[in-house]
Amino acid sequence: MAKVVDGKEIARQMNDKVGNSIREIRALVQIPPRLVSVMVGRSEDAEIYINMQRKTAESVGIEFSVDRIDDGITQEDLIAHIEKLNSDSAVTAIIVQKPLPGKIDHDKIVAGINPEKDAEGIHPANLGRILRREADIVPCTPGAVMKILKAHEVDLYGKEVVIVGHSAIVGKPLSLMMLNEMATTTVCHIGTFETGNLPGHIRKADILVVAVGKPGIIKGDWIGEGAVVIDVGINKVGDTVVGDVDFSEASKKAALITPVPGGVGPVTVSILMRNVSRAYSIQNKKGV
Ligand code: NAD
Repeated sequence: MAKVVDGKEIARQMNDKVGNSIREIRALVQIPPRLVSVMVGRSEDAEIYINMQRKTAESVGIEFSVDRIDDGITQEDLIAHIEKLNSDSAVTAIIVQKPLPGKIDHDKIVAGINPEKDAEGIHPANLGRILRREADIVPCTPGAVMKILKAHEVDLYGKEVVIVGHSAIVGKPLSLMMLNEMATTTVCHIGTFETGNLPGHIRKADILVVAVGKPGIIKGDWIGEGAVVIDVGINKVGDTVVGDVDFSEASKKAALITPVPGGVGPVTVSILMRNVSRAYSIQNKKGV
């Protein structure tokens, strides 16, 4: 049976470290770190994330506030709002909550954030820095996957890593982070599935990361004996939340597996806080 990753414990240890780094900088500067969450319209799911972010932020010494904006706002006015936050020295980090109204292009809004205040690490400049192995502020979920592997001393050198899902915020940046650690990286997606090639790739994986968003799409018998399985998926099924991997079957084959909930999710929030701490450090080194 697989060892089950305790994401909450990894997150707790990370939050302690982030809290210490923030206290060290705070002792030397006037302005506290402040994360501003920009929320357009209403969303029950986003409110759950916001509450979680607030709780974690405040526990590590980051001030947290929400700018609630009417969903009638235009894209231009939302970019203007972001620019105001960029030039406000009391705001050290910005996160734009999803979903945004359909008429607003999320990528354009994120591109308007000062990369040094980009809490989620998804500004094109921060994503680009991964290519050159010089990213301090990293996309949160890929950062969480790397952190979990590190916490469990999973060696990536030359290993077969298979990532299912190629989104710009999870699969693609994660594939570069894995390459930077000298893993042999394969990225699968809907095309791999529809051509019937997905199980074949998964069977070869030493380390499998799944970020699709479809409950139980990855079957237990596709997983190789002794593989490491990281399930990023978050799917509401009735009153419960499940991942993309058939957990009970996969646990019989894997050596290490993340549960959903309680695996990648809590560590993702900690990476968000680490990004805010790193942003705070970068800004203060420059005397912003
Ligand atoms: P997305 O919708 O942007 O991308 C989905 C990816 O899955 C695409 O690459 C698509 O080609 C692929 N795909 C779809 N159907 C497939 C199939 N049948 N077989 C193989 N590949 C298939 O999603 P995203 O934003 O990357 O999120 C993916 C999942 O991860 C969602 O469940 C989301 O809620 C979750 N998520 C979790 C965290 C976390 O902190 N744990 C953070 C971000 C996203």
